[in-house]
Amino acid sequence: MPTPQNTIAIVYDYDQTLSPSYMQDEVVFPAFGINKDNFWRRCSELVATEGYDSELSYMKVLLDTLGMDRPTNEELRSLGSKLNFYKGLPEMFEEFRNGLLTEEHVAHGISVEHYIISSGMKVLIEGSRLAPFVRAIFNCEFAEDREGRIMFPKRVISHTQKTQYLFRINKGLLDMSQDVNDHMDPEIRPIPFPNMIYIGDGPTDVPCFTVMRKNRGEAIAVYNPDDPARASFKKCYQLSTHADRVKHIAPADYRQGTHLRMLLEQMVEETANRIVAERRAAIETGTVRAPKH
Ligand SMILES: [Mg+2]
Repeated sequence: MPTPQNTIAIVYDYDQTLSPSYMQDEVVFPAFGINKDNFWRRCSELVATEGYDSELSYMKVLLDTLGMDRPTNEELRSLGSKLNFYKGLPEMFEEFRNGLLTEEHVAHGISVEHYIISSGMKVLIEGSRLAPFVRAIFNCEFAEDREGRIMFPKRVISHTQKTQYLFRINKGLLDMSQDVNDHMDPEIRPIPFPNMIYIGDGPTDVPCFTVMRKNRGEAIAVYNPDDPARASFKKCYQLSTHADRVKHIAPADYRQGTHLRMLLEQMVEETANRIVAERRAAIETGTVRAPKH
């Protein structure tokens, strides 16, 4: 029996995509009196001189810097409530709960789910105002020692590994104990790639943009419209105009009526209409049940 495949997933990167700042800079460093420049300089040194992966370098420098004062995941989670986002967030998620799909879409069982995949710290996003709207959060995680203090990386998500989590969403394997490489026929994957929209901000999202493009999903690169140096706009312009990695770019402004909101709403509407058309065709051939009224 094929699965209904009537879920639409919007998948977000976090840093610079949902928020103009880096989550560590915004809430972790001020709480523990860590000097931001020294911290990131030490990370760059580990990458350049010792060949560290950049995500592992920040996790190591955080543990080294905090030393005996390592916090618990619970303490970090409460810092997440202080995270701030681009304009229009988290309100957009609230508005999407009711205003995004038509009655007909809903009658066909169509729903929209949100996911976050990033190389940041999972506990911080879990404690943030975004968490109630998000189906799953895939980020780096720390294990805890006997006293509950963070002690060792439990999960590391580098920018190339982010694509694995697109396949987890595609196959519905949200539990980490399930092997994402297990074969699954396309017709039983709960969220086919054409039902997925990926939003990222730059070069670290290129592997995800590529997976989306190859599999006929949608993607948008966003930039910070308030950056006077235009660095993030230039990254996006490069990705779309010269590298042909992504079709759409938009300012990271999630308020109603913005370019980004119109793109997102249009993509969801077209995807939902296509699902309805496919289901109608399948109802005619008797392969799926008609929607209940
Ligand atoms: Mg980013």
